[in-house]
Amino acid sequence: MPEPLIFELSVEGRRAFSLPRSETPDAELPEELRRADLDLPEVSELDVIRHYVRLSQENFSIDTNFYPLGSCTMKYNPKVNEEVASQRGVRRVHPYTPDSEVQGALQVMYELQGLLAEIAGLPAVSLQPAAGAHGELTGMLVIRAHHLSRGDTGWHKVIVPDSAHGTNPATAAMAGYEVVTVRSDARGNVDLGQLRSLVGPDTAGMMLTNPNTLGLFDENIEEVCRTVHEAGGLMYGDGANMNAITGIARPGDLGFDVLHFNLHKTFSTPHGGGGPGAGPIAVRDYLASYLPDPVVTTADDEDGFSTYRLTTPGASIGKVRSLWGNYAVLARAYTYIRHHGAEGLRSNSEHAILNANYLAALLKDAYELRYDRPCMHEFVLSGARQKKQGARTLDIAKRIMDFGYHPPTIYFPLIVEESMLIEPTETENKQTLDAFAEAMRTIAREAQTEPEKITSAPHETDLRRLDETTAARRPDLAYRTTAA
Ligand SMILES: *Cc1c(COP(=O)(O)O)cnc(C)c1O
Repeated sequence: MPEPLIFELSVEGRRAFSLPRSETPDAELPEELRRADLDLPEVSELDVIRHYVRLSQENFSIDTNFYPLGSCTMKYNPKVNEEVASQRGVRRVHPYTPDSEVQGALQVMYELQGLLAEIAGLPAVSLQPAAGAHGELTGMLVIRAHHLSRGDTGWHKVIVPDSAHGTNPATAAMAGYEVVTVRSDARGNVDLGQLRSLVGPDTAGMMLTNPNTLGLFDENIEEVCRTVHEAGGLMYGDGANMNAITGIARPGDLGFDVLHFNLHKTFSTPHGGGGPGAGPIAVRDYLASYLPDPVVTTADDEDGFSTYRLTTPGASIGKVRSLWGNYAVLARAYTYIRHHGAEGLRSNSEHAILNANYLAALLKDAYELRYDRPCMHEFVLSGARQKKQGARTLDIAKRIMDFGYHPPTIYFPLIVEESMLIEPTETENKQTLDAFAEAMRTIAREAQTEPEKITSAPHETDLRRLDETTAARRPDLAYRTTAA
């Protein structure tokens, strides 16, 4: 481990501010308000700027480097969306203001509801949930409210594939359901035979990500939906992978009844670091009355102008979040969708798919590609061969940092041994993909000839190998003036 950075920039008397000359006579600060123990640094404006800019450059970010973190859709977020989110009318709008004074903001939310409904192919939308997992819970509570309203109290099982993101079974359990796992078949689809044997009169529904976390579009999706529907269950769509199909296929048309979006993945809100994000849900019309409180509705006033207001749906499951949800995230998504339009969104999805297939083709002889069929926006490699040579997937992830890349998602999905889930996204160009592929191929060669170079990586980063658990659970973020 290198020594902790020692930097003491303070010089007595140095200042970063200048106050206008006082027009009132000087007065002594009363004794009891004075503190002698305030050890503030005395630095100039330039010292402060350099300090923080340098610190910011030690962060890894999508604005500085390629970030192929599968399932997370870490694509570039166009700055125009940030500009809109930082406008005074967005930034300073107060959710306790009467509806009549914030018609513009309500209109943005109303129109966003409509745009997301169109993209999902499901007519009713709630913008309330604050994240994907929160959207899942909200959606499952809507499904539960539907069953309860019909007296379907014996329907207590939710089917979840073995490729699912961990939030899916967790959500089903939190909503009070028993989780039943269905396996994936040899092509990475839901195993239809097993699904048929699992559904029954106790099936409340199924939670499915499509394309799934293997980056594969389920080839039998309509049959999967039909099977669950025939048993009386509802189909919950995890829309975290909407980056692959937005503008091409609509989950509602495929057979899903409820879908969540991750606006912070597909629709241009920066993420990583824990939020804020937004996980709106879209549902079929017969589920609309269960949506959380409030939704934005519109009516024409006596002069024929549309007015917008916050409304509580008739049989609402209640509040899932305070006030308007994460409005700045909604404003970014609205800008992004309007900026691209239907054709632009479709073209983004097509480029996401093209980039993933291109990268998979460059890497599939260097690493095992378990499901060798055209992928959607991401694909899974296995480091099983390299593990036999002495370098585990974890080591490969450390080594790729030496080349200036963020590691891909590793050890997920769980059903592929030594998995690496790679999602290049549509915002990267061919040169970046070529360079990343070359780095990955170099590592595959090192695994054959000098695996210790991989197992001792990273060599080029400011800090070397950290303890993964404590680095995440007990991060050491303290500034120290002396070596610990
Ligand atoms: C990211 C993700 C989620 C959870 O979304 P959050 O916004 O992180 O809560 C759920 N499912 C899949 C497939 C995901 O990739």
